[in-house]
Amino acid sequence: MKKIGFIGLGLMGRGMSMNLVKAGFPVTVWNRTASKMDPLVEAGAKAAASPKEVAAASDIIVSIVTDSSDVEAVILGSEGAIHGTSPGDIVIDMSTISPAVTKSINDKLGAKGVKMLDAPVSGGSIGARDGTLSIMVGGDDETFKECLPIFEAMGKTITHVGGNGMGQTVKLVNQILVGTSMLGVAEALMFAKKCGVDLEKCHAAVSGGAAGSWQLTNNGARLLKGDMEPGFKIKDYLKDLRLIMEAAADVKMPLVETSVVQQMYKSLEAEGLTQKGTQAVIKAVEKLAGETLV
Ligand code: NAP
Repeated sequence: MKKIGFIGLGLMGRGMSMNLVKAGFPVTVWNRTASKMDPLVEAGAKAAASPKEVAAASDIIVSIVTDSSDVEAVILGSEGAIHGTSPGDIVIDMSTISPAVTKSINDKLGAKGVKMLDAPVSGGSIGARDGTLSIMVGGDDETFKECLPIFEAMGKTITHVGGNGMGQTVKLVNQILVGTSMLGVAEALMFAKKCGVDLEKCHAAVSGGAAGSWQLTNNGARLLKGDMEPGFKIKDYLKDLRLIMEAAADVKMPLVETSVVQQMYKSLEAEGLTQKGTQAVIKAVEKLAGETLV
């Protein structure tokens, strides 16, 4: 069985790495805040002192940290995984980061004979815990096939979408759809409230029709309860919106609707709501409407 290294045990990484341990892979972990390694060590993983040490102990190194610069730090930094790799090893980065940065990391690993897949995920910490993530993979076919058993231990819908960087690009597509849909749900429900419609009945009536969506069913229901707790935090979505806008600028594509979404979420940042869930965009809509939803 391939030896797996796992870097980044945050909300997502802790569940994903645990599922690799449960699937029987030998796993070596590293996390910047060392205490987060304890539950993994209790479950049978080994703890390493640095990403470099993780790589030296592993054939396949998985990373899931926050942003582009964080992946650069754990893979390419002075104690980064690259310094512990051998030719033939594989790095799978599952963070959501810039497609352009992914490609440049791939080039540096490639110069050492190390293959890379970008494999960002959708499905949140619950999907990470339950092993039901959607995984969008970029990279060459042979490396993808070699890593499939690892993806199958962490996710349900695993799609090889193209070459290096394409996994990240498809994730950004996903994030455009998530945000435009979420703002649409908030605006539509606020309109219903202003017009005096019963919100529960309205939600039930439109959820099963052509306007139905994951955001309407799940985050729409949260809005009706006034629940702003995060499944996915605004702080992380603001990062993704920045990545989307950078990638759109690279291909000279104006994103009109996504720009409005970004400004609405920026107004929530200004109000200190970045730890709330993305459904809290209703707070910006309520300001425009001059009334609260619930
Ligand atoms: P998180 O809970 O904030 O965890 C971030 C992890 O990255 C922590 O282990 C953190 O270490 C580590 N880290 C960050 N910067 C680092 C650096 N410079 N050096 C070393 N370690 C660093 O975030 P998360 O929710 O797991 O998200 C991780 C990635 O998955 C992000 O790219 C996010 O966009 C993506 N994602 C998240 C969700 C979701 O619903 N949460 C869904 C899909 C995709 P410490 O423990 O020391 O802070």
